[in-house]
Amino acid sequence: MTTPIVGLHHVTAIASDPQRNLDFYTQVLGLRFVKRTVNFDDPGTYHFYFGDDIGTPGTILTFFPWPGTPKGRRGAGETIATAFSIPAGSRAYWRERLSSKEVATEEKVHFGGTHLSFSDPDGMVLELVEHTEAQSVHAPRYSDVPARYAVQGFYGATLLEYSLERTAALLETMGYRKLSEERERTRYAPESNSRGRFLDIVVDKNAQPARMGTGTVHHIAFRASDDAAQLDWQQKLGKHVGVTTVQDRTYFHSIYFREPGGVLFEIATDAPGFLIDEPVESLGEALQIPEWF
Ligand code: ZN
Repeated sequence: MTTPIVGLHHVTAIASDPQRNLDFYTQVLGLRFVKRTVNFDDPGTYHFYFGDDIGTPGTILTFFPWPGTPKGRRGAGETIATAFSIPAGSRAYWRERLSSKEVATEEKVHFGGTHLSFSDPDGMVLELVEHTEAQSVHAPRYSDVPARYAVQGFYGATLLEYSLERTAALLETMGYRKLSEERERTRYAPESNSRGRFLDIVVDKNAQPARMGTGTVHHIAFRASDDAAQLDWQQKLGKHVGVTTVQDRTYFHSIYFREPGGVLFEIATDAPGFLIDEPVESLGEALQIPEWF
């Protein structure tokens, strides 16, 4: 029996200006800048990692800042919203905080829960959802967001697709089950209590195809407990989709595959984590380049 996938590990997106990206995620959302490195597949560009205080799997949002890249276009075959959990009772705090930083918000209700929706400076859609379950979180030590309101890691993500069936079949192979349906939106989750477990699929047959660019999500990564579990998933999913070999990403090990609707998925290991090359006090302060590089 393959060790289950419990939820998201990280989400990786494309930004334009690195400084603006850094300022927004640390000073507006209050995340910790846990790692500053280079894109191992394109070493001329940065790779930024934001998360809780130690970069716990399920809290990590990463960016390739690619200045001069054209803006992406929202469309089918793409992750159209990335949702974070916030503590129950903190939505008013966040609405006011975002408003004070001139970030326009909108409230949308999905499956009975209110999603506070807004965009980052590149137009990437983010949501904050109050979550009543206790989630242990290492609140970022350098943030001015009080720990009781701190972002708790991911709630989930929303994919836009032309049809549901084949994506749903792959999600079921990954251990995700349909929780509920609401018009064009269907929610899936694995049997787990982990952060980042909700995956909504929105079907729109008339959507334009997505175009990768700034403000769009490059891929979403799911958690594998360890290397053995990752190899099991590589073999199991390899019967349905093309899966890459294991890539060493220094902070985790990764395999990648494209789901049938076109969204790039990754399965990443929890270990070794972000403390492998820096002490916890100074995470993110120096540019880290792996030795093998
Ligand atoms: Zn990744």
